[in-house]
Amino acid sequence: MNKVLKGLTDYINASPSSFHAVMNARKELDEAGFTQIFECDSWKIKPGGKYYVLRNDSAVIAFRVPKKEYSGFMITASHSDSPCLKLKEHAEIIAGEKYIKLSAEVYGGMIFASWLDRPLSAAGRIMVKTEAGVEARFIDLKKPVAIIPSLAIHMNRETNDGYKYKKNVDLVPLFGSGKSKTTLLDMIAKEAGIKKEDILGQDIFLYNPMKAEVIGDGSFFSAPRLDDLECAYTCLNAFISAKNTGSIQVYCLYDNEEVGSLTRQGAAATFLKDVLSRVNASLSYDEEKYLRALSLSLLLSADNAHAVHPNFPDICDSNNKCYMNEGIVIKFHASQKYATDGYSAALFKCICDKNKVPYQTYFNRSDMPGGSTLGNLSNAQVSVATVDIGLPQLSMHSSYETAGVKDPEYMVSGVKAFYETSLVRKGNETVIS
Ligand code: ZN
Repeated sequence: MNKVLKGLTDYINASPSSFHAVMNARKELDEAGFTQIFECDSWKIKPGGKYYVLRNDSAVIAFRVPKKEYSGFMITASHSDSPCLKLKEHAEIIAGEKYIKLSAEVYGGMIFASWLDRPLSAAGRIMVKTEAGVEARFIDLKKPVAIIPSLAIHMNRETNDGYKYKKNVDLVPLFGSGKSKTTLLDMIAKEAGIKKEDILGQDIFLYNPMKAEVIGDGSFFSAPRLDDLECAYTCLNAFISAKNTGSIQVYCLYDNEEVGSLTRQGAAATFLKDVLSRVNASLSYDEEKYLRALSLSLLLSADNAHAVHPNFPDICDSNNKCYMNEGIVIKFHASQKYATDGYSAALFKCICDKNKVPYQTYFNRSDMPGGSTLGNLSNAQVSVATVDIGLPQLSMHSSYETAGVKDPEYMVSGVKAFYETSLVRKGNETVIS
């Protein structure tokens, strides 16, 4: 495994929930000397300084300020969440004397079949009562605590004929025997070393604990949550290793992309706008400076892309399709679900060309609606030129996804070069320095 891939797979293995993805990003930022600041404090940002701020413990924005007057913002955005099952409060369903099942909701647009008949573990955040209030704790049980058993083919002869899954029947996890006195919350309280009664709030998810593996002849690797932890990690790696330049470099990791981003820690929130405008004000610049800087800024919305599937090669555009191990994907969509346009694409291609980073273009086949992502939502709050990019992968939203072993390195090189870039306008020309 190359160094980037090893770092990526370690990060994915240690990040079973959005809270853990942010906690592990935070560890890397701490090690690289970034200072944590809080939204509730007054900010004193120094030229040449590097900082990060969390929201809800499941989203983070980190930034690095140049020593001299900054020109614009060079921003990447990726997401910390992935499709999974979210446990309800009072999750245990007693089914007679024989079984205890868990009541859970589907989070995001998962491929149902991939969640059946595999051990599931539990991780997330609990809010614990303290003497003075409540405190967040992050838990990961790291062992199989549930399984969703499929119905035997002898009892459902239609199972291979386009079976329609009923979420409240087919996707109910089995936890234990009806005589058991232990609940999942008991296990979580024990893990956290607290009393169950002191848990006042919970965001607990069932996840696939299978580790990342290199597959076949070594060209591909598979892991849970590749969408979007592959972009989250590679952008972070590039951000931390980038040199300080004339732009404010910004790394955003948002939560809740899989459920529409319309939360206070999602890409559609005011989080980015709040951070950028406060940084500008703290550096003693006026509102006009902020608006001028936005016109010299670029956002990379980094969320994985669909590689050509070996068994379904026709479900792609004929000319704009992408393959694993062939570089960063630039995504386009006429209805602007991908916010790339000719201007932003040209800037990014120029950066990649200069640094010999391979890239590919992607359009949905014209009769396919495709998915949505972060860029256009983020633009509603902070309107900057945007390129939607990603790395090519298979099986998006399965509990175990597949990607190319070379692409993470390409992403780190391309995004690092992007961060080290500044833009200057001269009439119709944009100078990339
Ligand atoms: Zn995604």
